[in-house]
Amino acid sequence: MKSQQILEKLIGFATVSRDSNLALIEFIRDYLTECGVECELIHNDERSKANLWATIGPTDRGGVVLSGHTDVVPVDGQPWTLPPFEMTERDGKLYGRGTADMKGYIACVLAAVPSFVSADLKTPIHLAFSYDEEVGCLGVRSILSMLEDKPHQPTACIIGEPTELKPVLGHKGKLGVRCHVKGAPCHSAYAPEGVNAIENAAKLITKLTQIGERLAESSRRDERFYPPFSTVQTGVIEGGQALNIVPADCRFNWEVRSLPGFDAGEVEREMRDYAESELIPKMRAVVPDTDIVFEPLQSYPGLTTEASSEVAALIATLAGRNDFGTVAYGTEGGLFHEAGIPTVVCGPGCMDQGHKPDEFIAIEQLERCDAMMQRLVEHLGA
Ligand SMILES: [Zn+2]
Repeated sequence: MKSQQILEKLIGFATVSRDSNLALIEFIRDYLTECGVECELIHNDERSKANLWATIGPTDRGGVVLSGHTDVVPVDGQPWTLPPFEMTERDGKLYGRGTADMKGYIACVLAAVPSFVSADLKTPIHLAFSYDEEVGCLGVRSILSMLEDKPHQPTACIIGEPTELKPVLGHKGKLGVRCHVKGAPCHSAYAPEGVNAIENAAKLITKLTQIGERLAESSRRDERFYPPFSTVQTGVIEGGQALNIVPADCRFNWEVRSLPGFDAGEVEREMRDYAESELIPKMRAVVPDTDIVFEPLQSYPGLTTEASSEVAALIATLAGRNDFGTVAYGTEGGLFHEAGIPTVVCGPGCMDQGHKPDEFIAIEQLERCDAMMQRLVEHLGA
């Protein structure tokens, strides 16, 4: 099958992260079986989702991982003019949820499998297709722990997130945190007798803003990224019921987008210290049974691969260019990198179309990715 036909099949599986991806994974498994490739499924605890891992070529050495996530973001509330889970071709573009992010890459990889199989590969090619990337790079973690037990670690990984096939060597990391301020309610006419959860949350958010200002002014900069410093922000807040009640609860979600090498946990520790040393004692002096609780949301590390590395040379050969860049969004690449597997990001399509209504990929991008897969075969067979 050609990549475009495979993509049409893949788009037909509505693999929104909250739902199962098993039908899609089984389709890929059956396709690989027909190609004579064995694969391993790694299920989640509920067995409602699975990662797929397969190796083509020799098994007594490391190899190149081609990695993609099978889940997509929801379409709820988006004004789609075309069916999201049915591929539509129009004016040289293929529309559907996941065409760009990132089933297009998976389709090109699968279309190339027959040539991977028939080539006399000296270096193996591994396929790593994950679930739950869009909700915090969750699925890929069990692929990485499975790899720890293998005698030969992969020597390179190409994450096919959409970069218009430009080789990308880095992205920032992310730490998301949910904070719950547990105050004490009372009639607002007696406000000093209660503990106002919203007002304490406001102090914490102000603290976070100050940390953000400090990071922006810090000498710790990396001009490969935009903005060239680590950033913070509060994205969601909820609390309170009525103006005449001192609010008992306030919850807010905040994040750190960290430069590679910057420990986002530093920000979290500073926030916790502030809560524990400044806010909680004052809250408890009014009502003892009050608290501020932090819980982790999604997080992934940054990616930073050296331009002088072998994996950078490999992707430059495959992509036919060595103008390495960075991307603003995160990928599973940070986790591969953290596991000691040299990683780059390079895939077809453009993230400008990702996560939006009427998401599409240009057919020309799929064709260029097909050609990149053929160069990989030639390179690894040589
Ligand atoms: Zn993606």
